Amino acid sequence: MAYDTNNIFAKILRGEIPCNKVYEDEFALAFHDINPQAPVHVLVIPKGDYVSMADFSASAPADLMVGFFRAVGKVADELGLVEPGYRMLANAGENAHQEVPHLHIHLFGGKPLGPMLD
Ligand code: IMP
Repeated sequence: MAYDTNNIFAKILRGEIPCNKVYEDEFALAFHDINPQAPVHVLVIPKGDYVSMADFSASAPADLMVGFFRAVGKVADELGLVEPGYRMLANAGENAHQEVPHLHIHLFGGKPLGPMLD
């Protein structure tokens, strides 16, 4: 799938629409999900035009890949999720119900989470 530069997360990255930011560095931006599914529900997105893990894993430069995943870990740590634990999830494509076509990792925490979803 070609990257749509008008998707909502691209607009957030460009500062065209606001977000409730929790973290930002040169590789990633993290903000609270607008429709939280857990007491803590944060999205972490890479600074680059990637639809999902499919194109990110295939073509992102190594510094962005490392920087992005380090940012995910840092956000979890700074939000106090590491102990007692959290869930990270990334929907990719139609079968996974990916709604926004810019790679994003969901971080869920703040309560005991049930078993994995269907
Ligand atoms: P997906 O189904 O994995 O693509 O998840 C998209 C997520 O983006 C959903 O959890 C939405 O609630 C969230 N979302 C959509 N628009 C916004 C926004 O403008 N700010 C923050 N979160 C959003």
